[in-house]
Amino acid sequence: MNNIIPTPPERIIKAKICRLLFGKTNLVTCPYCTRTGVIRRSEKFCCPRCNHTWSLTSLTWMKGMKLSWKQFWGLLWTFSQRIPVDQTGKLLDISKPTIYRWYGLFRQNLPHLEDVRLEGTVQMDEAYFGGKKKGVAIIAAKERDSSKVAAFVVPASSVKRTDIVPFIRQYVVPGSYLHTDGALIYKGIAKHWPVEHAYDTHRKGEFGKTSVIEGFWGSLRTFIRRMYHHVTVAKLPELLREYQCRLMFKEIFENPASLLPKLLTPFPFA
Ligand SMILES: [Zn+2]
Repeated sequence: MNNIIPTPPERIIKAKICRLLFGKTNLVTCPYCTRTGVIRRSEKFCCPRCNHTWSLTSLTWMKGMKLSWKQFWGLLWTFSQRIPVDQTGKLLDISKPTIYRWYGLFRQNLPHLEDVRLEGTVQMDEAYFGGKKKGVAIIAAKERDSSKVAAFVVPASSVKRTDIVPFIRQYVVPGSYLHTDGALIYKGIAKHWPVEHAYDTHRKGEFGKTSVIEGFWGSLRTFIRRMYHHVTVAKLPELLREYQCRLMFKEIFENPASLLPKLLTPFPFA
């Protein structure tokens, strides 16, 4: 194991996880019968009242983990720090498929974004990923003056008005200023949802109303290329959501200690 990644001793990592899941380490409550008096031996727990046994990982998405605790912590660190996957493999001595599997689990437990609502001045645009023929489109909208962004992968190589309208209805608050380019799909959009629509005509050299969302496309592509090298069409929705979370919830991605509490759901009685 390398010395680049700041890693606490194993017992500290385990204590942190135990506290997050079950509450105070020395006062674990049985998740089956909710009574106290649980016996703990290292990572194993046993309830003398109902005879159930469990471990630190067995009731969570970490179930069946074959990584050491230091490797697990290391992966939280490389994920939070956007370390390229190739480099992560070398740093932690973990195979790429294993890294992808664990990053997939981290991602699934990041905040859900269905509730995102954009207001004020909102810039909206579409972009294409994965080539003309087999590629897909992403629709995205971003508040001009904040990091809030809504995005959706359209499973087709072109975007229609029938994709745009439900997207705006879901994510853009009525009364917002909607800024787009001059594409036909946006024409008369205010008849479908009460927004103040204004647009740039790119061939006239107007770009001011879409510069923020254009910047989003650039930074999304750079993020994917640097960290993952490339992305398949099937994985694009996951990576898109990961990137949105990184933009909107910067504080979560500061380090493993800030990331872990967001990924683990405490048991209700903990
Ligand atoms: Zn019990």
